[in-house]
Amino acid sequence: MAYFDHNATTPLSAAAREVWLATEAAHWHNPSSLYRDAAKARIRLDTARDRLAAILETRPDQIVFTSGATESANAVLRYLAMTAKAGSQLWLNPTEHPCVLDAAKLFFGDRIQWLELDRDGRVKVDRLPTPTAASSMAAVVAMAANNETGVINPWRKIAERCVKMRIPFVCDAAQWLGKLPAGGLGLADWTFGSAHKFGGPKGTGFLKIPAAAKDFSIQLGGAQENAHRGGTENLSAVRAMLAALEHAEHHQVMLEAQRLKWREHFERRLCIQLPGTKIVAERADRLWNTSFLILPSGDNTRWVSRLDQAGFQVSTGSACATGKEGPSHVLAALGYSPEEARRAIRLSASWETTEADWDALLETLARLAPDMEATSASVVRL
Ligand code: PLP
Repeated sequence: MAYFDHNATTPLSAAAREVWLATEAAHWHNPSSLYRDAAKARIRLDTARDRLAAILETRPDQIVFTSGATESANAVLRYLAMTAKAGSQLWLNPTEHPCVLDAAKLFFGDRIQWLELDRDGRVKVDRLPTPTAASSMAAVVAMAANNETGVINPWRKIAERCVKMRIPFVCDAAQWLGKLPAGGLGLADWTFGSAHKFGGPKGTGFLKIPAAAKDFSIQLGGAQENAHRGGTENLSAVRAMLAALEHAEHHQVMLEAQRLKWREHFERRLCIQLPGTKIVAERADRLWNTSFLILPSGDNTRWVSRLDQAGFQVSTGSACATGKEGPSHVLAALGYSPEEARRAIRLSASWETTEADWDALLETLARLAPDMEATSASVVRL
């Protein structure tokens, strides 16, 4: 099987597995207990926090370990809604992941203003609210990289603008981390990631909070995580997340240019072999691993199952809603019709994906296409 769905989740990396097993064996004690073995676990938790803070370029006491991006997004938006000035608006990127969009709608209701996007789905920095509007703003929310299209937002520029305007900036970095260097993400007041997107365990992640948010609390019931999140810490998972992230940061990012070339080569040849194929946000800066395609024919759920039978695991886009996917809200925001969205498939590679994997996928798409076309035609006739 060739796995092309790494934006949905990734297998546990060798580095993470090794650290996870070693920590479960030797440091399974409760870091809050008072004997020496517990102190050893506590030291390792503190060290993991220091290491993550150094990677993000922030302070260790601004890191909260969480269960992942969904928990982090919900907690941040709830806190902002509770603490923002009455009536203030949330400026929100329309292509956010549903964990951000749904929480924003729940907590801010009709106090949402949509950020303007360019034709590839990037937030237009020059159309961000002006400083005069700042007093009526609760926060700006924009992800670092989109999970469906791979499109990269100018998050550094957005962060700098928000610093100048003294408006909180919330940045979902779930798809950025492990694929591109994480340095500077600490510029965002609130940023979060999820270990299973970069070779760490599922159900583990982190949230970086602003220094001033002393009263921020995700859940009550203990003083863990500097009183920001009660509950016994999952040390093995946290350490495994750090191992996976450090591996990506130190050993893999140097391979980006080559991986990008393989993806571009694949896309060029696909457009020749299957005329009518569209590459979403083709000209934009995108994550090196992601290719979101509108194929010339065939329903995307059928493509996914035919490709699965042929040995390739791909997605229709919004992986978190698998099994009950409507047309992608990201494609709708980019102006694609529901009919085009039904022909969309997302390919997302990993550092281990080879050029031969891309070649084999291309060959299989070309081989299956006539059959998909024939089926589309017969569906239209019905
Ligand atoms: N944000 C983005 C951009 C994602 O791609 C995902 C998962 O697909 C999430 C948030 C949710 O992450 P988690 O599974 O950690 O809750």
